[in-house]
Amino acid sequence: MRLRFAPSPTGYLHVGGARTALYNWLLARHSGGTFILRIEDTDQSRYTEEAIDAITEDLAWLGLQWDEGPGVGGEHGPYRQTERGAVYSEAACRLLWEGKAYRCFCTPKEIAARHEAEKVDARTARREHACRFLSEEQVARLEAQGVPSAIRFKVEEGTTIVRDLVRGDVVFDNGIIEDFVLLRRDGTATYNLAVVLDDTGMAITHVVRGDDHLSNTPKQLMLYAALGVEPPRFGHLSMIVGTDGKPLSKRFADVSVGFYREKGYLADAMVNFLSLLGWSLDDKTTIIDRESLITGFSLDRVTSKPAVWDIEKLDWMNGVYIRSKSDEELAELLVPFLRRAGYDLDSARLARAVPLVKERMKVLEDAVPLLSFMGAADPGLEEDARKALQTDGARRMLAASLEALESLPVFEAAQIESALREVAERLGLKPRVAFQPVRIAITGNKVSPPLFGSLALLGKEASLRRIERALKE
Ligand code: GLU
Repeated sequence: MRLRFAPSPTGYLHVGGARTALYNWLLARHSGGTFILRIEDTDQSRYTEEAIDAITEDLAWLGLQWDEGPGVGGEHGPYRQTERGAVYSEAACRLLWEGKAYRCFCTPKEIAARHEAEKVDARTARREHACRFLSEEQVARLEAQGVPSAIRFKVEEGTTIVRDLVRGDVVFDNGIIEDFVLLRRDGTATYNLAVVLDDTGMAITHVVRGDDHLSNTPKQLMLYAALGVEPPRFGHLSMIVGTDGKPLSKRFADVSVGFYREKGYLADAMVNFLSLLGWSLDDKTTIIDRESLITGFSLDRVTSKPAVWDIEKLDWMNGVYIRSKSDEELAELLVPFLRRAGYDLDSARLARAVPLVKERMKVLEDAVPLLSFMGAADPGLEEDARKALQTDGARRMLAASLEALESLPVFEAAQIESALREVAERLGLKPRVAFQPVRIAITGNKVSPPLFGSLALLGKEASLRRIERALKE
């Protein structure tokens, strides 16, 4: 199987695109086939290098490595449409020559007006454009006058059946398909022409893509027939909807992969979650590692029903993946998050802190406020935290804790705990009340990871210094 993901680089990788890429990748890996990345940048003005980088970085982060494409090369390149222009114009001219296409001299304004008029009576939607019936002489005259023209494909009467691998047979009436443009007036290819020639040139065997392209497929099948080429098999993936049942949009959820990556969703969790948007291994398994996805994936179990984007499920799943990591692995993953927030902690030190926060994280980002106390600088105090240090009980607790901790020969969580419990008891304070000022002194916060472990991690010297400082507040 030769499969491809063919994004238009619009600035970021959409989660729907990521699901399409994943399914293609899984089919390629499952079958020992080839996964190709092709950049569909025919509409040059809109696309930038950064937009392409954004997509390739997100794909690489998800671990969906392509076997042919940008940065990798391959026998069927180039893999960017803007570099394939000659192939498109040559094919369009051939279709023109063979009478399967014609020159259209209408201006965009005229066409827009006609479309407007057709909407008035949908049943009379015109398949053919007037230019289809120009005589050879008329065409020659207009060309000689230098009137610019597009090249349109001649849609013939009848029906076109898309034998879809996901939805079964879908029948289209050619009567409502307009003679579509192959080459624009400026000589650039349209999506439908380029995609057919690219999929042919890249020997694609299976086109698996979003069902927003289903209505393009009959046009593409007509083109394959006109070009005398065997078409690939097609499978159209259902739409992703929010829990409100509406198509996933920016208003409902964050739709870029980059957003999830930056919050600290793990790539493996993301892949697992995306895999289940329209496919299932069986009726019950939800946590499926990458290897099992590759082994178990098939189009037979892909559904045509809309897939629901359920953020709670993703959060839950991410937690499962986070907890399945070793402390060392998690520490490595956390370093960039803490760095970004201005805390420069090495991963060995972080690995010791990970057990304190592992159970409390849904996403990696959650660890930042919890672990910030480990940074070099002493924490600043919020107004209400400062106030909580002013009570008589708090001051007595801090002073007595300072003394007790100072004399501890071993500064580990267990020893710290028994020393502080003893102090609380001696002062007649409930543990919960007694430990709060110590927590604030150490972390600057009323909420923190487990206190005794935090003290041990911070170390004796810094802990004592912070308590002394709190006493001066
Ligand atoms: N470039 C198209 C898109 O981003 C995909 C076309 C295709 O897969 O055929 O929607």
